[in-house]
Amino acid sequence: MKVFQEALYGDHGQTLSIDEVVFAGHTGHQEALIFTNPVFGKVLALDGVVQLTELDNHVYHEMVAHVPAMAHGMPRDVLIIGGGDGGTLKEMLKHPVDSVVLVELDAEVIALSRKFFPDVSGGAFGDRRVTVTIGDGAAYVENTGRQFDLIVIDSTDPVGPGEVLFSDRFYRSCRSALRPGGIVSLQSGTPFYHAARLERQLEALERCFGSARPFLAPVPTYAHGLLALIVAAQADVFCPPLDLLRARFGTLDTTYYAPEVHHAAFAAAPLCFTRSSAPR
Ligand code: SAM
Repeated sequence: MKVFQEALYGDHGQTLSIDEVVFAGHTGHQEALIFTNPVFGKVLALDGVVQLTELDNHVYHEMVAHVPAMAHGMPRDVLIIGGGDGGTLKEMLKHPVDSVVLVELDAEVIALSRKFFPDVSGGAFGDRRVTVTIGDGAAYVENTGRQFDLIVIDSTDPVGPGEVLFSDRFYRSCRSALRPGGIVSLQSGTPFYHAARLERQLEALERCFGSARPFLAPVPTYAHGLLALIVAAQADVFCPPLDLLRARFGTLDTTYYAPEVHHAAFAAAPLCFTRSSAPR
């Protein structure tokens, strides 16, 4: 049996059987592998790390997009850093936004995703509100004169090209590129394994923005099955009352996200700190 062994953690990991290799090659930035697995369906891995699978990518994309969008209430201009698969883009476009800029380092990730995971972006790249820029997200945010209501950092983990997107300097640039009332949203790894990293990131974001809170999403694709995400802003506006969220939700077309899930995701976040003394 052919297997894929994820190369993300030193002392534990996940192994997926490979039914069929759909694509394998270097993009110029990263080693890309797309294969099929009986449980997860089609799987995209970059540099040996699973990015998304057909099984549950909607959970991640809905939560990283709708939690900040619904907390904000009226986002007009949105910036997505990374996110070349187009899943976050698709979810963001469900809101009545005026514009979404997506800054992805690797054009090949967009091309591969559109070819092999067409449902993930679902035509989002063709939306007239979207501008795609190929380049480093940190450099873009530092140099853009534009201001945004939401910035979603849909990046790889803090190794390789994604590392810069976890720095204080990048967070400060994001703060400068946010309008008053703006919100940043990002993924922060698997909470039990990355407890100390999550706490450091929360502290850094709180120092930079004023307020930051973690929330959780079940994503079996990532080892441990539980993903921590963080939202940061000037004030703790992240969890509006349920009535308000329900009014904002209206007819939003989602599979996982719902106002009740929004509240539950924050309520469950103390789970993240059960092993906060772990030396990682
Ligand atoms: N949901 C996924 C996860 O959490 O594993 C992330 C998916 S998305 C494919 C991540 C994207 O971030 C990749 O396509 C990668 O090329 C992009 N990326 C990494 N570093 C970047 C940077 N510095 N600027 C812009 N995009 C970057």
